[in-house]
Amino acid sequence: MKFLCPNCGSVQFKGKQSIGKKFLSGPYKNVLFEIQCSKCFMDIPSILSENINDDKINEVKDLWIKEFKPEHLKHSSNCSKCLRKYWEIEKYLFDYNISSKDIFYQVYKPKSGAGELICKICDSSAFK
Ligand SMILES: [Zn+2]
Ligand SMILES: [Zn+2]
Repeated sequence: MKFLCPNCGSVQFKGKQSIGKKFLSGPYKNVLFEIQCSKCFMDIPSILSENINDDKINEVKDLWIKEFKPEHLKHSSNCSKCLRKYWEIEKYLFDYNISSKDIFYQVYKPKSGAGELICKICDSSAFK
């Protein structure tokens, strides 16, 4: 498989994962797989990064920046303490040679009725 990250231009990736039919509308409705870039650590839709023809590269980059990335920013998980997004956390952990297997734990907040995520950078002791 040939990978090219429309976000940072890297050709290295960490892995590919299925996201299933998560979105019924919007640009992500046709996305079934995401590939995580090993440089910027963003999950990039495979339709924008896998085996892209050379003459489509600019088009795909444009699509990522204008349509997909804003949507991805809206839906991606971030730490509720430091507000870092998952890719910033993974990059930080990578730079400091810390395993990024689990990067969040969830804290239940009865008031908001939802779980909050705390990252490994904010509370590394919780991951030992
Ligand atoms: Zn990248
Ligand atoms: Zn944090």
